[in-house]
Parts: sequence; C-alpha cells; structure tokens
Amino acid sequence: MKILVTNDDGIFAEGLWILARELKNIAQVVVVAPDREQSAIGTAVTLSQPLRARRVKPMVPGVEAYSVEGTPADSVILALGKLITSKIDLVVSGINQGLNLGNDVLISGTVGAALQGYLRGFPALAISVASEDNLYLDNAAKVATLLTKKIEANSLGTSVFLNVNLPDLPLAKIKGVKVTRLADESHIDTVEEGHDGRRKYYWLVRQRIDKHTDDMTDMGVVEQGSISITPLHTYLNSKSPRIITDSFCSDLFQELQKNQR
Ligand code: MN
Repeated sequence: MKILVTNDDGIFAEGLWILARELKNIAQVVVVAPDREQSAIGTAVTLSQPLRARRVKPMVPGVEAYSVEGTPADSVILALGKLITSKIDLVVSGINQGLNLGNDVLISGTVGAALQGYLRGFPALAISVASEDNLYLDNAAKVATLLTKKIEANSLGTSVFLNVNLPDLPLAKIKGVKVTRLADESHIDTVEEGHDGRRKYYWLVRQRIDKHTDDMTDMGVVEQGSISITPLHTYLNSKSPRIITDSFCSDLFQELQKNQR
C-alpha cells in the first residue's frame, strides 16, 4: 500500500510528521505538502502562476517528501499528476491542529486537499484534532492507521471521503467513535475594524459556536468527548429547489426577452 500524506499546516507541521511516522508502519508513505501554513484556504488551486516543488529531507527517515510552493489542493494535484509515478492507494490530509467541523469543511484546507484526492478517484481522509498544543496528535495518527487498514481490506467500499475529528483528550478519556453529519453552523464571523495610522483595516474574527448538544452532528459528538467520522461527498445540489421551478425559469426568460432592445 502506498499513501500520499499532505496537510494545510505546511511541511514543517508536527501533525503531518506524526501521521507520516505512524502510517509508515503499515505502508509506503510519500509526503507532499505546502511549504507554509495555509489553513482556511479551502480547495483553492493556483492557475495564475507556475508551481514549484522541491524534494526535501524528511523528518521521518524512509519517507519521500516534497515541499510545494502552492496550496494544499495544488500539492495533491501535483503529487498525483506528476511527482508520484507509482500507484497511490490513499490520500490522507492532516493531522490538522484545530477542528474542521460543520460548514467549515467548505473553507478547510485540510478537507480541500483530501477532496482533490477523492475527486481523482482515490479514497481520502481528512483528520483534525481539537488541540492547539499538540498533546494528543498520536491518537489521531492511530485512528488514521486503523482506517487505512479498513480501506486496505476494502471494508469501506470504493468511494471513501471521510472527515475525522478528535476531541482534545487522552485516549483513556475518549468516549467512543460516532458517525455524524455536518453541523449546520460552526463559527460566527465578525469583522473588527482598526486603524494603522494611515488607513483603516479589518480583521475577520472567527468565534466558535460551542453549545452543540445534537449528538448526530460532528460538533456535538466532539464536544461530548467522542471521535467524529463524517462521510462526505461532493453533491452540492439543493435537495429542495421548490422555489426555483420550471415556470419560474420560463418567466425569468420571458422577462429577459422583454428587456431586449
Ligand atoms: Mn490547518
């Protein structure tokens, strides 16, 4: 088995290498990651300038590693399209230092990188931990290893895209593992204004919504001390397009034609 390991915290992030070290016990590992931290960059790809990749000395011996001057998504596209010539079986993105829950998956670089793998037909995992101080990254690496074994045994089927989040707890205090759906909300974004002496500036400030007791959601489950596994897919169509009907569309087209000069 050969695994592409990437992240959005950058090639020097501790979580990336703890993940690579653990996965190396059961598979061949290639690390291709951005040269710097790029959290919240989502699925962004670089189309307006060339991408450069550099083979770097790995922090785990025996791992092939590349640093990419690009986004997490760029790193995966480059890895799968050019840098790695042999067959890859799985893409794992993480371990992100900070949770990726609810609608934040839409801006998460960790999930964005996994998505690029999934879109190209590879099973993909995004793994994040609550901790900002890296106390329990090992737990996440172990979960990644176990999931990898299940994927290898083909017990998860062919279409795998999982968003995994762990609470900031030692293994003995973790209550369980639960399958979840994404919470409807995760953060409140506010804009703070300041002045640098010459010009006004703005900071987008994120505040996590805590109090999620719904134990079907990723936020609720992590808050209650369990590991959340959310199966994702890329179907963005609204399931209830009620208002936008065929007659709505033909009306719109008629109005458009009326305005023709
Ligand atoms: Mn990050």
